[in-house]
Amino acid sequence: MAGWERYKRQITFEGIGEEGQRKLSEARVCIIGVGALGTIIANSLCRAGVGFLRVIDRDHVEETNLQRQILFTERDVAECLPKAVAAANHLSSANSSITIESVVDDVNASNIERFIGDVDLVMDGSDNFETRFLINEACDKHKIQWIYGGVVASGGATMNVLMEDDTPCFRCFMPEMPEAGAYPTCNTVGVINPITGIVASYQAAEAMKILTGADGVSRHYLALDVWENISSYIEVEKNPDCPVCVRGEYALLDSPVASYAASLCGQDSWQIIPEGRRSADFDALADRLARLGEVKVTKFLMRFDGDGVSFRLFPDGRAMIDGAEDESAARRIYAEYIGA
Ligand SMILES: [Zn+2]
Repeated sequence: MAGWERYKRQITFEGIGEEGQRKLSEARVCIIGVGALGTIIANSLCRAGVGFLRVIDRDHVEETNLQRQILFTERDVAECLPKAVAAANHLSSANSSITIESVVDDVNASNIERFIGDVDLVMDGSDNFETRFLINEACDKHKIQWIYGGVVASGGATMNVLMEDDTPCFRCFMPEMPEAGAYPTCNTVGVINPITGIVASYQAAEAMKILTGADGVSRHYLALDVWENISSYIEVEKNPDCPVCVRGEYALLDSPVASYAASLCGQDSWQIIPEGRRSADFDALADRLARLGEVKVTKFLMRFDGDGVSFRLFPDGRAMIDGAEDESAARRIYAEYIGA
């Protein structure tokens, strides 16, 4: 096929071949979260020639991301680029023959079905169980396969959710959503980049198998720790009374909220989404806030750093607020600085 010279080594691999390459080129994949796992998954699938990639992330590139989030550079940090935009820039320069759609947004009950409804496979690059439980419900409702991945410190895990009658969903594996603070996070105990590379690469390999219809798609939960020399395949049983994959109850998906605040992955950072998204007037706000601190306005976001308060505001009114100890403090900062 014309233009397939770049995939020569992959087509030569007997597990893929020309037929597999054609399937990859016709495949559509949504990657939710382009951080440590998402950048590696996106890099793999882009270079492998998956025809359509939608990359979604709600935040921008920060210096602390560079240690493991392989698509980003110091320049992306300096330009304060949203992760989805920076990722799409780098991906399209690696492979201009595929379609890459970048979405700068929070994935929640109000929009997830729109993001996943037209794809063949969803990749979990998120960093929290609330998003994963939501992905699990939305994917079950639309019968779209998805691949869980999670990492913290030197350990990680991955599992395919295959949407077959007898295969378990993520809720079968984890019946209840862990309470906030119950699990260590990358903010509290750190993370090293070999484990993110390994888990994400397993996810990418499983994606290639699923998308090409290969035999040997994993039906186990894989847990790894590169510091403790552990790797184990664990069998997960389908819960015959699972609220999601058996009873079809979608508690998270069916309760979209008009306005909400969410704590971000164990940091004292909060995301505020105002009721009825409206456009933020960056210029007027920047004029007003310039007296109170440092303001930076780009095409994609406005960043403010003031006396003990810092936030990023996106064009649709969504904000990420740092240094707020609880939800009411975050909402107060939003109201005082951005507007109620
Ligand atoms: Zn289930």
